[in-house]
Amino acid sequence: MSRLVMKFGGTSLADIERIRNVARHVQREVDAGHEVAVVVSAMSGTTNQLVDWCREAAPLHDAREYDAVVASGEQVTAGLLALVLEGMGVNARSWQGWQLPILTSNAHAAARIEDINGAELIKRFRERKEVAVVTGFQGMHKETGRVTTLGRGGSDTSAVAIAAAIRADRCDIYTDVDGVYTTDPRVVPRARRLEKIAYEEMLEMASLGAKVMQVRSIELGMVHNVRIFVRSSFDRPQDIDPLANQPPGTMICDESEIMEQQVVTGIAFSKDEAQISIRQVPDKPGVAAAIFGPLAEANINVDMIVQIISADGATTDLTFTVPTSDYERANAALVKSKGAIGYDHLDTSTDIAKVSVIGIGMRSHAGVAAQAFKALAARQINIRAITTSEIKFSLLIDAEYTELAVRTLHSLYGLDK
Ligand code: ADP
Ligand code: ASP
Ligand code: MG
Repeated sequence: MSRLVMKFGGTSLADIERIRNVARHVQREVDAGHEVAVVVSAMSGTTNQLVDWCREAAPLHDAREYDAVVASGEQVTAGLLALVLEGMGVNARSWQGWQLPILTSNAHAAARIEDINGAELIKRFRERKEVAVVTGFQGMHKETGRVTTLGRGGSDTSAVAIAAAIRADRCDIYTDVDGVYTTDPRVVPRARRLEKIAYEEMLEMASLGAKVMQVRSIELGMVHNVRIFVRSSFDRPQDIDPLANQPPGTMICDESEIMEQQVVTGIAFSKDEAQISIRQVPDKPGVAAAIFGPLAEANINVDMIVQIISADGATTDLTFTVPTSDYERANAALVKSKGAIGYDHLDTSTDIAKVSVIGIGMRSHAGVAAQAFKALAARQINIRAITTSEIKFSLLIDAEYTELAVRTLHSLYGLDK
C-alpha cells in the first residue's frame, strides 16, 4: 500500500462531467488499496472571476477580504468531488484549509504554509477510512484565524506541502497536459515531454514563466524530497492500471536520478516584464543604493540589472526589469526619488519579454549562450539585456519576437521532437 496525494487543476474540474472523471481516477487508486488525500483547485475561470470582482469592488482592496472572496472557488469543487465520490460508493469528506488546518503566515494573497500536522492527518484518515478531499490554495493564519490564500497557482503548493506532511510516496499533479515539456506545448507544438526533470531545473522553469507548477511547490518538494509526478487528468481512468508501470508523465526529482543529462533541458518565457532605463545617472558611489533602496522598500522585485560603464566618467545609464504588476509602483517610486538620485529622465517599455534557457548541463559546458546570441542575430532579433547564472541564462527581447525566439532556441538546442 502506498500513500498518495492526488492534485487536480481547474480545467480537470471545470464541470460535473469532468469532476466525475476525476472521481474515477480517485476510485481507481482507492480500489488498488492506496491511502489517498486529494487536493483540488477551483473550476477553471472561477478564480479569475473572483479576482475581477474584488478589483471592481475596490481597486485598492484589503487583502484579507480579497482572500475571503478568492478562497471560495476551492470550497465548491471540494464539496462537489466529495459528493460525487460518495455517490460512487467511495467514502469521502471535504476539508477546507481552516478545518484541516493548514496554518500559514499572514501575508494575505501570498501566504506561506508554516505548519500542517501530518501525524494528526494520518490518524484521522485511518480512523475515518475516508478519502480526504482538501481545498488547495487556502490556509488560515494561526493568530487571527482568518482565511489566507497562497498566491495564484497555489494549490500545487498545498498538494506538495500535504505530501511532505503525511510523508506520501508520491504527489501526483493531474493537469491538462501529460507532463512537463521542453517548453510550453501550446506555443511550440514540437515541444517534447520530459521523462524526468531535476528540482533545480523545474524551479528555474517555473520562476522564469512556465506556469505548469507554482514555484513555491517545487521549493517545498526539493527541501522535503517529495516525488512530484505531473500527468494528465484526461487519460481515461479505466485505461490505467495503478499497479502496473507508470503512465505517461514527468517525474520531478533529484538530479542524481537522471541518467542522461542534456546540456539544455528546457526553455521558458514570460511577457509579464517591464523594462525601466534610468538615463544619465551620476557615476559615483551610492547611486545604486539610492535607486534600489526605495524599490526594495516598496517590496518590488528587481531583475536583469544592466549598467553601462560611462565613457566620460560623469554619468551612466542603468537598465533593469520589474514584474508588470509592479511597474506603476516602481515608476512612481523612481519619480519620487528623482532629486535624491539625480538622473535626467526615465525610458520605459512594457512591450518586452524574457526568454530563458535552462539546463543543469550548462554547469559543465561553455559557450551555450553564445550559440543563442548568434542564432537570434541571424533572425534579426535584438537582445536588450542578458543575465546568466550557473544553470540558466535569460535574454530580454521585444515581445513581438517571443514565439520566434523560443522556437529558434528550441531547435538550436536539439529539443524539437
Ligand atoms: P492547472 O489548472 O491544472 O493547475 P495550469 O494552467 O496551471 O494547470 O498549468 C498547465 C499549463 O501550463 C499547460 O496547459 C501549459 O500550457 C502550461 N505550460 C507552460 N509551460 C509548460 C511546460 N514547459 N510544460 C508543460 N506545460 C506548460
Ligand atoms: N484556483 C487558484 C488559481 O487559479 C489556485 C490554483 O489553481 O492552483 O490561482
Ligand atoms: Mg496551476
